[in-house]
Amino acid sequence: MLVSAKEMLTKAKAGKYAVGQFNINNLEWTKAILQTAQELNSPVILGVSEGAGKYMCGYTTIVGMVNGMINELGITVPVALHLDHGSYEGAMKCIEAGFSSVMFDGSHYPIEENLAKTKELVEICNSKGLSLEAEVGAIGGEEDGVVGSGEVADPEECKMIADLGVTMLAAGIGNIHGKYPANWAGLSFETLDGIQQLTGDMPLVLHGGTGIPADMIKKAISLGVSKINVNTECQLAFAEATRKYIEAGKDLEGKGFDPRKLLADGTAAIKATVKEKMELFGSVDKA
Ligand SMILES: [Zn+2]
Repeated sequence: MLVSAKEMLTKAKAGKYAVGQFNINNLEWTKAILQTAQELNSPVILGVSEGAGKYMCGYTTIVGMVNGMINELGITVPVALHLDHGSYEGAMKCIEAGFSSVMFDGSHYPIEENLAKTKELVEICNSKGLSLEAEVGAIGGEEDGVVGSGEVADPEECKMIADLGVTMLAAGIGNIHGKYPANWAGLSFETLDGIQQLTGDMPLVLHGGTGIPADMIKKAISLGVSKINVNTECQLAFAEATRKYIEAGKDLEGKGFDPRKLLADGTAAIKATVKEKMELFGSVDKA
């Protein structure tokens, strides 16, 4: 059964570790992440962007697939199904479709509008027992076609959004979606510290987890980050393993063209990436 992300993140914040959000793109992705979470006895958040939602034929298809897999694979660790960077309309659709968690990303609106829309969603999510993530200060890089440039959030604005009663808060602290450029300045721990001091127990979310060095991840967790989003890294691992399989000519050997074989190495590579992240984030055996 899907659960809200509230309890797992409250525990993570108190226990000084982070729960990974791993974005899904298809059946193989979902299966690899759920199996790894179960093997490592870790809570997990499955992230779905609006683009991935369209690709997978809509939110109700995804809810059906994930619930079916939880039953068929005997998954007993806490699993939240979460809309990533949702619009207001997208969040409403996911709530209706049976997601257990949504993100409303109003960071591109003026703060007053972000506050007003987030407040409406807080009420809806609270009444249905769902967790809600809000965002302040656009996170750089590309989010489904929306390009921003490595901003840092204003801690006072973070406090205003946190005080609305959201479950978790994403704030720009110099992090970027996708691959980090060679001249990246690193995370702004000063900003993160300022946000945590004003938002107290609120679990903070670090987006753009791909390629942030391990020591920065650990420091961010020590400063209140309890949810870390990983997307691109699984994509890179999947693509590399699949390319190697084809370049080695394995698809031309016997039944190597069978998708169950063709996609097996890539799927194993996702599992290895998820395992590495869960170990780094400290969520192993925290289910
Ligand atoms: Zn993000």
